[in-house]
Amino acid sequence: MPHSRWVGAHVSAQGGVANAPLNAATIGATAFALFTKNQRRWNAAPLTADEIAKFRQNCNEHHFSPAQILPHDSYLINLGHPEPEMLAKSREAFLDEMQRCELLGLALLNFHPGSHLRQISETLCLRNIADSINWGLEQTSGVTAVLENTAGQGSNLGHRFEQLAEIIARVEDKSRVGVCLDTCHLFAAGYDLRTHEAVAKMFTEFEQIVGIKYLKGMHLNDCKSAFASHVDRHDSLGYGTIGKTAFSAIMAHPATMQIPLILETIRPEIWPDEIAWLQSQSC
Ligand SMILES: [Zn+2]
Ligand SMILES: [Zn+2]
Repeated sequence: MPHSRWVGAHVSAQGGVANAPLNAATIGATAFALFTKNQRRWNAAPLTADEIAKFRQNCNEHHFSPAQILPHDSYLINLGHPEPEMLAKSREAFLDEMQRCELLGLALLNFHPGSHLRQISETLCLRNIADSINWGLEQTSGVTAVLENTAGQGSNLGHRFEQLAEIIARVEDKSRVGVCLDTCHLFAAGYDLRTHEAVAKMFTEFEQIVGIKYLKGMHLNDCKSAFASHVDRHDSLGYGTIGKTAFSAIMAHPATMQIPLILETIRPEIWPDEIAWLQSQSC
C-alpha cells in the first residue's frame, strides 16, 4: 500500500512557524520536523495568536495531523547539566518549548537527552534528565517528551538503548515519554544497519531493552563517519557509510508505521527524490 508511512524532512520555519507545513507540502512530505523558535538562542518572543492560528490552518489544509509532526527543541538545552544553575536554565527553556508545542496543538517534542560534560557520573546525569522530563511533563499536557538517541559524541548520553531505558524507567508518566531513533546516530554509536538482518536485529534489541511502543519517530540519515566512530555527520541516503539497504529495510519494518520519519540529510534540494524513493520502499 503506498503512503502507509509518514515521510518528510526537517523543514525551515523561517518567516514564521506557519511556513513549515507549506514547505513540507512543497516537497511531497507526509510528515515534517521544525524548530518552533531559533534553535541557537535561549529566548524567543512568545507565539502570537495569529501565528498559532495560521500554523494550525496550514497543517489542516495540507493534512498534517499532530502525529505526523515532530518538533525539535533548541541545541542549547542540556537536561542532564552537571551545574545547578545551567540545569535550571535548561529546564526553563525545555518547559517553554513544551508550552510552545501545546499552543500549536502538537503532540511530540524531540530532544537530545543531555551531557554530563565529564563533571558528574553517567548515572547522575541520567537521573537529572529523567527529573527534568518529569518536571516538564507535570506542568504541561498533551505533549510527549521524545528522547533522541545520540552518536555518543563527547559526553552526550543516549547512545546506548540501556541509557534510554534507564531514563524512561525514571519517568513517572510513561504515556508521555518516547524515543526517536536517528539512523546516523545509531550507526555511529555502533548499531550496524548495513543489511536487512542488521536492521531487524537493531529493532529486536530496541524492543527487548526499551520497547517498540516507545518508538515515536525516526530520523532517516545516512552517515559520513565510520561505523562506531561516535562522530555525528549526516549524509544523503545512499551516499554515506550506511547505504540504501538500511532504509529499504526500515521502510518495510512494521515498527515504522504511523510515526514521523524525518530526513535531516544534507542536500535539501534532493529531499523530494529521497521522500519519493522512501515511499516506494514502504510496504
Ligand atoms: Zn536526528
Ligand atoms: Zn545528528
